[in-house]
Amino acid sequence: MSDIDVLVIGSGIAGLSAAIAARQAGAESVIIAEAAGGIGGASRLSSGLIVGAGTAMQATAGIADSAELMFRDYMNANQWGLDGGVTRRLAAESGPTIDWLVSLGAEFHPTPVSGGYETQPRCAVAIDEGQGLIDALARAARNLDIDVALGQRVDRLLVKDGVVVGAAVGDDELSASAVIIASGGFGSNPEKIAEFYPSLAKAGDWLWYVGEDGSHGDAIDLGQQVGARITGHDTGCSMLAPGFTRSHETYLPGWLVIVDPDGQRFIAENAHYSALDRQAVLRGGRFFVLFDSQALDPEAAKATPFYAGGSKAYPGRTERTSPNWNPDILREMVAAGRIPFADSIAELAVAVGVPDDQLEATIAEYNEGAQAGLDRMGKYPEFLRPLEKSPFYAAEIRLSEIVITGTGLQIDPEARVLDALGCPIPGLFAAGEATGGVIWPFYPSSGSSLGHGAAFGRVAGTNAAARSIAGA
Ligand SMILES: Cc1cc2nc3c(=O)[nH]c(=O)nc-3n(C[C@H](O)[C@H](O)[C@H](O)COP(=O)(O)OP(=O)(O)OC[C@H]3O[C@@H](n4cnc5c(N)ncnc54)[C@H](O)[C@@H]3O)c2cc1C
Repeated sequence: MSDIDVLVIGSGIAGLSAAIAARQAGAESVIIAEAAGGIGGASRLSSGLIVGAGTAMQATAGIADSAELMFRDYMNANQWGLDGGVTRRLAAESGPTIDWLVSLGAEFHPTPVSGGYETQPRCAVAIDEGQGLIDALARAARNLDIDVALGQRVDRLLVKDGVVVGAAVGDDELSASAVIIASGGFGSNPEKIAEFYPSLAKAGDWLWYVGEDGSHGDAIDLGQQVGARITGHDTGCSMLAPGFTRSHETYLPGWLVIVDPDGQRFIAENAHYSALDRQAVLRGGRFFVLFDSQALDPEAAKATPFYAGGSKAYPGRTERTSPNWNPDILREMVAAGRIPFADSIAELAVAVGVPDDQLEATIAEYNEGAQAGLDRMGKYPEFLRPLEKSPFYAAEIRLSEIVITGTGLQIDPEARVLDALGCPIPGLFAAGEATGGVIWPFYPSSGSSLGHGAAFGRVAGTNAAARSIAGA
């Protein structure tokens, strides 16, 4: 006989969703162990965009979407390299999960938005962002008598005859019919980044994580104790940043011109951040942003729009401003010697160690396209501003701001944790950023991480409850 029915490790969106679903599915005693002193993890800090296909909200807004469309979008974005069964389950659960969140009291702006390159707008936008979602889930958990034990960092799984039968914090052991690992990612753990996310480790001392200190990657350690398969190596969602400030900047201003160390452009700079991220990983993670004196002149800078889709990206948001690429910061960084400059593109190339003939050719072609309003790389015409007023500047950027880590426990469509042979480990489930490979390597759209956290949290909680009811 176990002490409790279901033990959930972590109180972010995945853990809270799992615990609530377990109670709703008939588990009588559910406890969440939370390492931090408060509820919510990285989920609480998030922007609150969450993916769901076929939601009531979409139907009201006249958006014809379906699980099948989402399945195809996710598979296509990842060149059909995802686990099809897991993706199909995620797509099927995503819409009902948003409706379920609404039923629990989560509030959303009425019209879903597009979170990237998906075929239909399917990103629900939470009022009060991630904190709004967590507050609603925490209230629902309280109403269902789910205990959240704060300051309890689980360090050990209890195993009997190959079955996970509980977990421990130091000498304190708690037995449970099922354990759900929802302890988030490893963005705050430099050793784990070096081992599991080497493309980001390359950023050196520029590297930083925008999420919670509690993202230690304990899921990997706990899983390894019981022979779990770790998957999703070197994946995640990260941003290109100049290292001027440690401010979260999701979208780069469209007018920037980015070149690689060979002096070549490789992407339309107004691309979605997941596309910039992926291309940056494939090309070594270190680049230069080029601009001319117009970027430092407040009046001239205003003449070119900063972002696609207007200055407000999502409903309920304040005006978007760039914490890095504004005239004040740029002038400060030039004065501090952080941004090399020169009177000609060729001299600038020498200053930053890029082949001068290539950089001259790249900028000449860019300028020609900008003057004609047609960019070879497909940048939107409104962002095309020729580099023609010296001095010219080149700021180094690196893939250096981690938002989500993608390596973790491999799960099956029932959110069961798999062992090295791909077989479910009895009694053990996982959801959210603790898992690996579910939506990677190409982050399919904004909202995908909260989306899979909540959806597989529900699946894990429901299945964990079934185990306890069956008397496991
Ligand atoms: C600034 C920012 C904005 C973002 N915006 C979005 C967005 O709009 N949409 C989107 O989809 N994604 C977004 N993300 C990503 C998303 O927030 C996370 O991937 C997601 O919230 C992870 O949820 P989770 O429940 O798996 O983990 P978390 O929310 O991180 O929760 C894990 C919890 O487990 C606890 N824990 C860790 N180890 C242990 C242990 N051993 N024992 C007990 N407890 C433990 C942690 O303290 C934490 O509270 C954003 C991330 C950041 C940082």
